[in-house]
Amino acid sequence: MASLDSHTPARTPSLDDARALMSHVYGFRDFRPGQDEIIEAVLAGEDVLAVMPTGRGKSLCFQLPALLREGLTIVVSPLIALMRDQVAQLQANGVEAATLNSNTPPEEAEQTWDKIDSGALKLLYLAPERMGAPGLMRNLARRNVAMIAVDEAHCVSQWGHDFRPEYLRIAEFAQTMGAPQIAAFTATADAAARRDIAGRLFSRAPAEFVSGFDRPNIHLAAAGKRDGYAQIRSFVAARRGQSGIIYCTSRKGCESLAERLQADGVEAMAYHAGLEAGERSRRQDFFVGEDGIVMCATVAFGMGVDKPDVRFVVHNGLPKSIEAYYQEIGRAGRDGLPSETLMLWSLGDAGLRRRQIAESEMSEEQKRMETRRLSALIAYAEAPACRRQTLLAYFGEDTQPCGVCDLCDDPPELIDGLELAQKAMSAIARTGQRFGLEHLVSVLRGVSNEKTQRLGHDALPTFGVGADLSKDQWLSVYRQLFAAGAIDQPIDGHGEWLITAKGKEILFGREPIRLRPPQDKRASRTASAPSRAADSLLSDRDQQLYSALRRLRLDFAKEAGKPAYTVFSDRTLIEMALNRPSSLDALSGVYGVGARKLERYGEAFLDVIRDA
Ligand code: ADP
Ligand code: ZN
Repeated sequence: MASLDSHTPARTPSLDDARALMSHVYGFRDFRPGQDEIIEAVLAGEDVLAVMPTGRGKSLCFQLPALLREGLTIVVSPLIALMRDQVAQLQANGVEAATLNSNTPPEEAEQTWDKIDSGALKLLYLAPERMGAPGLMRNLARRNVAMIAVDEAHCVSQWGHDFRPEYLRIAEFAQTMGAPQIAAFTATADAAARRDIAGRLFSRAPAEFVSGFDRPNIHLAAAGKRDGYAQIRSFVAARRGQSGIIYCTSRKGCESLAERLQADGVEAMAYHAGLEAGERSRRQDFFVGEDGIVMCATVAFGMGVDKPDVRFVVHNGLPKSIEAYYQEIGRAGRDGLPSETLMLWSLGDAGLRRRQIAESEMSEEQKRMETRRLSALIAYAEAPACRRQTLLAYFGEDTQPCGVCDLCDDPPELIDGLELAQKAMSAIARTGQRFGLEHLVSVLRGVSNEKTQRLGHDALPTFGVGADLSKDQWLSVYRQLFAAGAIDQPIDGHGEWLITAKGKEILFGREPIRLRPPQDKRASRTASAPSRAADSLLSDRDQQLYSALRRLRLDFAKEAGKPAYTVFSDRTLIEMALNRPSSLDALSGVYGVGARKLERYGEAFLDVIRDA
């Protein structure tokens, strides 16, 4: 493509060339942390294995070098939908890219091969299962394959949570192609997984790059589940018009939540593996293409959803593990704009998970490991200070308090929790460590009901000693005691709570315990706090212009049958609304406005800005 040719230097391209190309084509001014060193290594011809958090911008790390150099880059990506999205985004920026799968019509395939031969097309996306197709291999072997870029490279590791046997073909494919350079990318791989990936994918040791796990644009929050739906409703209501995902733990949960939200006027949909495949992909496309849909989904939803402007992710129930949680919240804010999360959980969720682990087919060793992971998750949910510090510490990173989490927003003053803890645990001890929370709280609060009377628990010294606190407050105390390892549920039990060795130390006053005041106001504050999305920073006047720009974006998107963000990202429109550029030249300085988009959409957007 002509506009690119002028950026293809004869000498070995440098990082400056890459920066110039990025600005011209993508309209981005600076590299994000980590991108520059990776791009430099790729340009130098090194094999690379890079770990980078979701949304940080892995794609540019292979796209820019691919476009700057001679030869074809094969991009291996696990999902057709992901490839389709990436190709669409490249094309929107005026970059030739294509994907070949078994359904590609022959004429289209032929065109693609022609473009490869003329050097116009340098990025070819392939699914890993295509790596052995004989016809395709013959065709590729005749071309100059300069690099293989592997997206979601952790799929090659059997240890990972996403192992895909097809990924094992990549190494052999590389040999068939004459061992070109390999650049592999993933968002999740600890040291052991990196060794595993390096061994399976590369024929020589790659240069490794690990960028931190932190996603500073994502606000973290967690709260105890009280009246589940009301908490979610007020959270969503404060974020009208934003795209969001609410993870539910069951199919039925997804359906009923979506229905209740719809009844409350929210554009909500359900998504889970129980839906027929066509319907699933229709709903996914709708979520990606439209603005402001709230998807109530099981974790089946997300992989392959490459939507940059998801503004919030809520967990309605405990996620599976911290790793899973990190991946799932990572679907928010890929565009780098402020985005929010909220985890709502109850001890009931934790108890259920405990039993699931106990009843599973895992080995004893694995069960112990899963139990430890669950404890780490609970400790995160009940973190006493900066939530991000707790999260990153789990991944082995040390950081300062972040300022972008519920606990930094409003640091709880820890109190001496001895008396509360002793009361809560004595309710457990006095009733013989045989009861669940409902009953324990009734005893503490002195609720005289059939059960307390029948069991004679209304005569216990503990009966009514906690009448000054609400049920929610006692549940908060119990959650914190569980997080602190003072109480536990037997793995093979029926929901009863018992006191651990550590709990006994506290109960007998031999060990101190500090607790957050069990007020649980935090939950409601988080839920109803106004959205922190960037567009809430706009003044009313800018907000009007922003809405007009969004309408224009939607018109263009509908006309092309493409998702709105392939026209311009939210961040681009926000900058336009704030800076109000008055000429094409000024517009080209706005984030995300590359040469192609300037030419195609520039005048139309300027008109709207001028009329505002
Ligand atoms: P990842 O694959 O790491 O999850 P992507 O490559 O999809 O992330 O990039 C996420 C978003 O960030 C995309 O919208 C992309 O255009 C944008 N992006 C990437 N690099 C930059 C940059 N240097 N400056 C601004 N935006 C960027
Ligand atoms: Zn914090």
